[in-house]
Amino acid sequence: MLLSFKTQLKPNNKQITRFRQHCGVARHAYNFGNAVILDALERRKTDDSVKIPSAIDLHKKLVAEVKTENPWYYESSKASPQQALTEVRKAWDRCFKKVSAQPRFKQKGKSHDSFYLEQGTKANPGISNDGKKIKLPKIGWVRLAEPLPLAAVHNCVISRTADSWFIAIKCEIEKPNVEVNRPSVGVDIGIKELAVTSDGRVFSNPKAYRRMSKRLTALQRAVSRKQKGSLNRSKAVIAIARIHARVANIRKDAIHKLTTHLAKNHSVVKIEDLHIKAFLKNHKLAGAIADCGMYEFKRQLEYKTEKFDSQLVLVHRFFPSSQICSNCGNHRHKMPLKNRIYVCSDCGHTEDRDLNAAKNIERWFEGIFIPERSSSDAVSLTVKVCGADKPLKCQLETAMKQEANSKPIQLTLF
Ligand SMILES: [Zn+2]
Repeated sequence: MLLSFKTQLKPNNKQITRFRQHCGVARHAYNFGNAVILDALERRKTDDSVKIPSAIDLHKKLVAEVKTENPWYYESSKASPQQALTEVRKAWDRCFKKVSAQPRFKQKGKSHDSFYLEQGTKANPGISNDGKKIKLPKIGWVRLAEPLPLAAVHNCVISRTADSWFIAIKCEIEKPNVEVNRPSVGVDIGIKELAVTSDGRVFSNPKAYRRMSKRLTALQRAVSRKQKGSLNRSKAVIAIARIHARVANIRKDAIHKLTTHLAKNHSVVKIEDLHIKAFLKNHKLAGAIADCGMYEFKRQLEYKTEKFDSQLVLVHRFFPSSQICSNCGNHRHKMPLKNRIYVCSDCGHTEDRDLNAAKNIERWFEGIFIPERSSSDAVSLTVKVCGADKPLKCQLETAMKQEANSKPIQLTLF
């Protein structure tokens, strides 16, 4: 299967200059394409016959009008501007489909810079890799921070985060061996935790941001004290970007570990197919996943389940996984976010809210029986007073004391 690898590059100063030039060309071409499309849209308002140019039309126009006047285009690989035009056209397609907002012009130094390089012909390969270094067209041999698999590279993307450079390449790899008889698993994307699985495992949210935020505040203050345009100010800005990149990396790492664990050790992985907007509305504190995006979580699971020969099942987004009793499956009641513990009034089953939801997700199949919502919600315990940070047993005991005067309930502790 084709897998993409991303690793850090260790370029020398000359190579960094070349990288920046390539990014500049890609950015220029992107902005040119964006302007041409905006112009076509404007003219279309009065003339219906005006067509939105395709990526190929944009490239023809770029070669005819821009490249002749800007000879520095020829100093970088021709694949970079071409890919930038394809990207701006795709961004507009997404905008026309109302999937994303209107593409904006790229500003120098603001957004994450990147450019694309392509493999040349067999006789004259543009990209080759000896394990420790990678050869890039018009740039030369660049050192790699860690070895890459020695496989045929089709194309690559070089990008910058803070002041580090990265390369992403697509390679053909063989699927790893996996154990037979792996169980299936349901995953609840937690509010307090990163995720809770139906076998009772809890994946905590990385506390990276809180730890780093103190240093971040200090650095931001330092930036505001420095003179605009000074070297010291730009140094402080880079220091902030580095911390942001580090926080993002810690979060990414937590999600990668979670998705690898899920795909590698289970034959079937079931997750809720949540719409990203609905997800953020209901899961305000969902931490790392809200940060990286549900899309990224799903994307990783998609390719990792393929890699480890397991199956990803998306549970219907209207399945009330937190409301149904995972023990008897016949009871359902409202579960506001403050309720951390699920108590079934039919069978007396008592469980942590997220674990109960994960178990329901694991049980799910197309056409599963969904009970009507019970009107007697009075039995559900509210534990806002005792705090959700205490152990479950302690929460239950406090909640039971509160409930003791009103109604006797059966509780089973585990
Ligand atoms: Zn029950």
